[in-house]
Amino acid sequence: MSDILRVDGISCRFGGLLANNDISFGVEEGAIMGLIGPNGAGKSTLFSIIAGDRRPTAGRLHYAGRDVTGWRPHQAARAGVGRTFQLMRVFGSMTVAENLATAAYLRHRRRRDAQRRAEEVIAEVGLGELADAPAASLTAGWKKRLEMARAVAVEPRLLLLDEVLSGLTPAEANEAVGIVRRLNERGITVLMVEHVMEIIMPLCDRVVVLDHGEKICAGPPAEVVRDPAVIEAYLGREA
Ligand code: ADP
Ligand code: MG
Repeated sequence: MSDILRVDGISCRFGGLLANNDISFGVEEGAIMGLIGPNGAGKSTLFSIIAGDRRPTAGRLHYAGRDVTGWRPHQAARAGVGRTFQLMRVFGSMTVAENLATAAYLRHRRRRDAQRRAEEVIAEVGLGELADAPAASLTAGWKKRLEMARAVAVEPRLLLLDEVLSGLTPAEANEAVGIVRRLNERGITVLMVEHVMEIIMPLCDRVVVLDHGEKICAGPPAEVVRDPAVIEAYLGREA
């Protein structure tokens, strides 16, 4: 399998802070890949660069064999990159179905097509009973589910999930993991930020670890958790 995404020497500077420092890795098409690291490591910044919400200060981004460095969010969405936001971007006064139709507009020009896509996504992620509920009335767990559905609504080839499992009950997290697996089984490549190693280990084919903006390790999860630099930077702190 070839890489659907290649991050080549990506850096992102905020004034004196290098939030991403010369990061390189590839994401193989069809994989579920984990992106881990302590708070402030630069994970969400990298997602913003991949999804076109932020320009890198240096480095190149390749998607589906094309150089897409500096692309805009609508270009990324149309090319099949779906992302969730850690700070959710759900419209509270709109219903679940309306939120998803709004997201689907990024891919579909016609209202009917966007609405049909919204209905498909509602079924796919198990939001059926809440389709007509205002998003603001949802519990935290269901809001997370809606945020994930919003990213799926653009019919992604590459899905970027930023801590969609955090704050969920164990039962909700289990269900969400099942959804991620199903999406992946129908061909969607997943790159996910997640903190709980018990979730990452069985789910991800490979993991990239960031710390202070730098890639400190990459490999299969079983190897990564034994890496001294990872234990020092990340796992040790939790223990
Ligand atoms: P993570 O998602 O791994 O917790 P972030 O990518 O959100 O990390 O942040 C990486 C670093 O960049 C942090 O130190 C954060 O404070 C800083 N940062 C993120 N966004 C901005 C911004 N828009 N302006 C300035 N600093 C930022
Ligand atoms: Mg983050």
